[in-house]
Amino acid sequence: MSLTTDPKDPRLGKWGGKPEDKPTPQDDVYLVLSDEERAKGFVRPYRDAYRHVGLPGPKYPLRDLTDQERERFKTGDGRGNPYVKFEVYPKELEPLTGKCWTQKQLDSVGQGCGTVTTMGRALSETYARDPHFYGATYCYNCMRHFAVGKDGEFVWEGTDERVGT
Ligand SMILES: [Zn+2]
Repeated sequence: MSLTTDPKDPRLGKWGGKPEDKPTPQDDVYLVLSDEERAKGFVRPYRDAYRHVGLPGPKYPLRDLTDQERERFKTGDGRGNPYVKFEVYPKELEPLTGKCWTQKQLDSVGQGCGTVTTMGRALSETYARDPHFYGATYCYNCMRHFAVGKDGEFVWEGTDERVGT
């Protein structure tokens, strides 16, 4: 594996920074922020190990989709998984009203493999400088990229903090 600071590096094409449905070898080249950008300071603590814990579950009550919603969201997650439930957000979260869930997502809540993956310095510093830089990260045990962020599958080892938040 090697690193590049050039978002247009032609070797970056293969993975594209998104979660994957199937095991895939780790990418050959990963994009990181430049030394100068990382030297501007971290907005999160430097951390180099994350644990695959699986998706966080719904926080609010779930209900079935109405016929109207079923029609409106009929493409599902766009990867062949229809939405089956709607998580109803409380009034304080307006204008957001809720979130659709696929059965596949509901089945993977909390179902990470528990493996801790560690990263090299440049990748770790990139997370610390810009927590939203990556859309997904790799689990060595599952051999796949999974989503990061508040609805992602990883926490920083030793914390409850989601990677990418
Ligand atoms: Zn895993």
